[in-house]
Amino acid sequence: MNRVHLRFLSLADNVGLARVSVAALAGQGRFSLSDIEEIKVAVSEAVSNAIIHGYQRRTDGWVELDLELDDAGLTIVVEDWGVGIEDIEQARQPSYSGDPERMGLGFVFMESFMHGLEVESTLGQGTRVQMRRLANVSGELSRDAQ
Ligand code: ATP
Ligand code: MG
Repeated sequence: MNRVHLRFLSLADNVGLARVSVAALAGQGRFSLSDIEEIKVAVSEAVSNAIIHGYQRRTDGWVELDLELDDAGLTIVVEDWGVGIEDIEQARQPSYSGDPERMGLGFVFMESFMHGLEVESTLGQGTRVQMRRLANVSGELSRDAQ
């Protein structure tokens, strides 16, 4: 069992920080290199959403990443205190985006790479995305590959 709690400013550069942090922790658990790549994508999408949509690219907001690793898997929480989501069900629809320039695929990636995704949001208060990736009980692990 291990826990990591990170709090960082809503700067685009911190997407990379979140990716590296989750990869380092997942590397301690029962995940293969390809599992870790997928977990990184899911975290990138959630943190990018917090920065781009939650804080609308303002760089003075806080984003929190809470990671909990256990034998059965990895739980990830990404939280922001930005504008919030008006209609969560609509936001989670494949290809839905509040911005016509975007693909609307962030939640689709999170959904498909993780084993459980919960979104809580209050307009004007912020958004909390929780997801869990179950451990790889049989396959090759990243530690074996190193
Ligand atoms: P893409 O991720 O493909 O660049 P996208 O970010 O629009 O496009 P999703 O990540 O699926 O697509 O998010 C869907 C919509 O949900 C967003 O367009 C935005 O309106 C809303 N949303 C998602 N996360 C947040 C957040 N943290 N705060 C406020 N709104 C959000
Ligand atoms: Mg997105």
